[in-house]
Amino acid sequence: MREFDVDAPAAERWGEGLVAVEQGEPIHLDVRLESVHEGILVTGEAETIYRGICGRCLTDIAQPVEVEFQELFGYPGEEATDFELQDDHVDTGPLVRDTIVLSLPFQPVCQPDCPGLDPNTGERLTSEAAQEPREPVDPRWASLKTFTNDDDAVATRHDAETKEES
Ligand SMILES: [Zn+2]
Repeated sequence: MREFDVDAPAAERWGEGLVAVEQGEPIHLDVRLESVHEGILVTGEAETIYRGICGRCLTDIAQPVEVEFQELFGYPGEEATDFELQDDHVDTGPLVRDTIVLSLPFQPVCQPDCPGLDPNTGERLTSEAAQEPREPVDPRWASLKTFTNDDDAVATRHDAETKEES
């Protein structure tokens, strides 16, 4: 039996959803290799960070992710296993990648009770604003509205306000 403690960067971007482990992100591996009759039994833990955006409010997020795995790497040409030893080497890359990608959330959130965006203004809600959706703008930020040069955004906001009044 042998044990390894390894840090290695992700060789490519892992994940296709709102969050992913970026290429080059450090992956910390704790791996135990055991010789068994059919091959090498690989047991371990991997730790890294996934990055992306909150599925509700679109804020950038970075969260730690930790996974455990155990897989038999069979001797080539013997029993059918998902992974094979190659030249007496265990390539844990694909195993770690698959385990981490499967553990990434489909609906990542910046915090468990993230209230998301205001359906009228598109602005990020705070927990208090979610209960009072009519007052989404912090007065300290109100003057920033005059700096917008996005005519569409202004028109949309005006339409929303008109609808509320009628
Ligand atoms: Zn959020």
